[in-house]
Amino acid sequence: MSAPQQITVLGATGSIGLSTLDVIARHPERYQVFALSGFSRLVELESLCMLYRPRYAVVADAAAARALQDSLHAAGLATRVLCGDEGLCEVAAHPDVDAVMAAIVGAAGLKPTLAAVEAGKKVLLANKEALVMSGALFMQAVRQSGAVLLPIDSEHNAIFQCLPGDYARGLQQVGVRRIMLTASGGPFRETPLEQLAGVTPEQACAHPNWSMGRKISVDSASMMNKGLELIEACWLFDARPAQVEVVIHPQSVIHSLVDYVDGSVLAQLGNPDMRTPISHALAWPQRIDSGVAPLDLFAIARLDFQAPDEQRFPCLRLARQAAEQGGTAPAMLNAANEVAVAAFLERRIRFPEIASIIDSVLNAEPAIAVEDLDTVLVADRQARERAGHWLNRRG
Ligand code: NAD
Ligand code: MG
Repeated sequence: MSAPQQITVLGATGSIGLSTLDVIARHPERYQVFALSGFSRLVELESLCMLYRPRYAVVADAAAARALQDSLHAAGLATRVLCGDEGLCEVAAHPDVDAVMAAIVGAAGLKPTLAAVEAGKKVLLANKEALVMSGALFMQAVRQSGAVLLPIDSEHNAIFQCLPGDYARGLQQVGVRRIMLTASGGPFRETPLEQLAGVTPEQACAHPNWSMGRKISVDSASMMNKGLELIEACWLFDARPAQVEVVIHPQSVIHSLVDYVDGSVLAQLGNPDMRTPISHALAWPQRIDSGVAPLDLFAIARLDFQAPDEQRFPCLRLARQAAEQGGTAPAMLNAANEVAVAAFLERRIRFPEIASIIDSVLNAEPAIAVEDLDTVLVADRQARERAGHWLNRRG
């Protein structure tokens, strides 16, 4: 038996990070934690360090690093504590690392995820915002470094499983007609439209099928999550936006489908538990036990499908617009959305205003071609500023 693979978990204290550690703990002979990162939940990060004894831990700043370093030393651990983007990039690209779980939420994950890609690692991508922002550069870096990019988003992991191994030749070449991206429709799928202005962050975060971080929960409620996933799918599978159809499937049992020219439609099914795509990507091309219960089709009994309603979910239309525009548009969309979601979670704006902010930012300034990472970071910063102005004007 070969030595265990060394795994860096970026965003270890989050929902995906914890599910990843749960899978790793089931297979100590296969996987060892090399590094863990956390941002605000430092007590949790400390407990995770005690449990997994990583070589490195990474926190936000020098003060937090000193505090964690002291308590880990006092507990007899040799873990070295680093901080900031630099620390994250170091543990993502370290020569001793085999695989990196990119599970930081939002644009904050871009640099370390790219660092892992550029170092040619096996990259398990949960941080969809990183790919949405920098799509062309990101995929170019994957090709140049030979990194193995495996999608963790359940939909994209499902599509990956339903595509043939040589899909990189081109979807048309391998006989794919379209990709069908399933969406639960979130907690407001049937809420009367006139009540959407009154919904609370708690209601938005109460997802019917999945337990997730707060930002992605709000994105699921607005269906911006599906919009970001549409852009993610275009980059991962080299698809045109028109080749990706969104299908509402409230039970979240079919995680997505691939429609072939001969009329065959392949789907991947499973209980809605992220440990399935995480285990799939960790062990790929092998299969390992994930701890997820077997699917009980008799208990599920029925599977429903609906077309999405763009009046109810304007964010989906805005994301499709950004996907078609290309260039810096997806980075602008993502940045405006991050600011808007944070404002909604702080109760500064109403739920429907998330889409209003994104619409005004996306349509204030034309997108430009992406030359380099700087173009992306400038577009991100400007979109955040514009969204900030929108919030200030509103008071
Ligand atoms: P979460 O909020 O539960 O966890 C986020 C993690 O990122 C935490 O460890 C946090 O400490 C860290 N973090 C937050 N801000 C940071 C910053 N500025 N710098 C460094 N680290 C920071 O989120 P989650 O639900 O685990 O989602 C993580 C990513 O995975 C997101 O991109 C999300 O879209 C994606 N994803 C999540 C799920 C899910 O089921 N939760 C499913 C598919 C994709
Ligand atoms: Mg998803």
